[in-house]
Amino acid sequence: MLSLARSELAWQEAQRYLAGGVNSPVRAFRAVGGTPPFIQRGAGARLYDLDGNEYIDYVCSWGALIAGHAHPDVVERLQRAVERGTSYGAPTELETALARRVVELFPSIELVRFVNSGTEATMSAIRLARAATGRAKIVKFTGCYHGHADPLLATAGSGLLTFGIPSSPGVTPGTAADTISLPYNQLEPVEEAFSQAGGEIAAVIVEPVAGNMGVVPPAEGFLQGLREITRRHGALLIFDEVITGFRLAPGGAQELYGVQPDLTCLGKILGGGLPVGAYGGRRELMELLAPLGPVYQAGTLSGNPLAMEAGLATLELLRRPGAYERLEALSARLADGLRRASELAGVPVAVNRTGSMLTAFFTSEPVTSYETATLADTARYARFHQAMLRRGVYLAPSQFEAAFVSLAHGDEEIDRTLEAAEEALREIAS
Ligand code: PLP
Repeated sequence: MLSLARSELAWQEAQRYLAGGVNSPVRAFRAVGGTPPFIQRGAGARLYDLDGNEYIDYVCSWGALIAGHAHPDVVERLQRAVERGTSYGAPTELETALARRVVELFPSIELVRFVNSGTEATMSAIRLARAATGRAKIVKFTGCYHGHADPLLATAGSGLLTFGIPSSPGVTPGTAADTISLPYNQLEPVEEAFSQAGGEIAAVIVEPVAGNMGVVPPAEGFLQGLREITRRHGALLIFDEVITGFRLAPGGAQELYGVQPDLTCLGKILGGGLPVGAYGGRRELMELLAPLGPVYQAGTLSGNPLAMEAGLATLELLRRPGAYERLEALSARLADGLRRASELAGVPVAVNRTGSMLTAFFTSEPVTSYETATLADTARYARFHQAMLRRGVYLAPSQFEAAFVSLAHGDEEIDRTLEAAEEALREIAS
């Protein structure tokens, strides 16, 4: 039995001072129940909580830690950097070095702007797209998450092309009305939206591999279709590669699928576990940003030297020969093993995987869309999550998230995870 006595005390105390005890809702474990373990430290692929429990970590700071926790190269660079100060609010060569790396890896990006989170990246990319096109509306896909900026917290109205409605109180109906939410992986509704309102649509924003409804890869031709439709109608295509950037290939999903967006949003891995986001694209678009152009966007801590160092160190580690092959091989083994374990236990599971991001959906149907993802048995996932946690495997505390494999994972971690999964699935079979 997992002892979480100290975490339980910490959880009570946290709830006295922090809204809901957390700084990001999913961390509260509401979807899976139980007390969230309070983390004391991370090392490699492992997390350690206040009670001394050790976990194999598949959250990896929601995909940011592709090199694992406290990688010595990242730590060493940060230690050296911190001695030189933590923020200057003035240009540094580090920003140029990381931007150069991004431009080298992403052929669609000629200029970069760093921000502090993925939310800021998507919010700013949308502002830029609106300014570049002189149009107001944006198209997003239901089930994709692009951070919590107001225009992106909108959901579909009653009909396919009716005004978007706020998906959170506090978002004004006026803001939401400019967002059109369409079903992921279907091109006809996109065609229809453009045929009705094409002259008003500034951009289509998409997770090129959805990670935030659980992993749902793009259907054959979906991304290519979005490219073609947006181009035909003079709208911009924005790839939100906050998760997929540097993970699925050095140049992200756009490299993997051979589709070039107009703007790309980055985050997570780019900051190596420190707060970072970025957006970038063609020169003539990015030159609309102040100080060159009229579109305002700024940040006190943007391009923070510590974040730049952690990002540079992480991208250096990904450059080592075999890094992506290793991620692929381990992740494939994990996915295959989970499928086998589910068959053995007689618990239907649909495992979706693209590279080192994967989700085991508790459903017998293939998951190819938001609609099919939401058929998953979330109560069963909650029991699985608890059963895995007790066996020392830390999975995302929601069915609709990805598991991330890092360079710090190895065969031992995968073996132990699969052993745990076999037992856990048997336990929840009834
Ligand atoms: N875009 C995607 C695809 C994400 O997964 C996330 C966060 O999970 C964001 C944007 C928002 O990033 P952040 O949480 O850094 O604001």
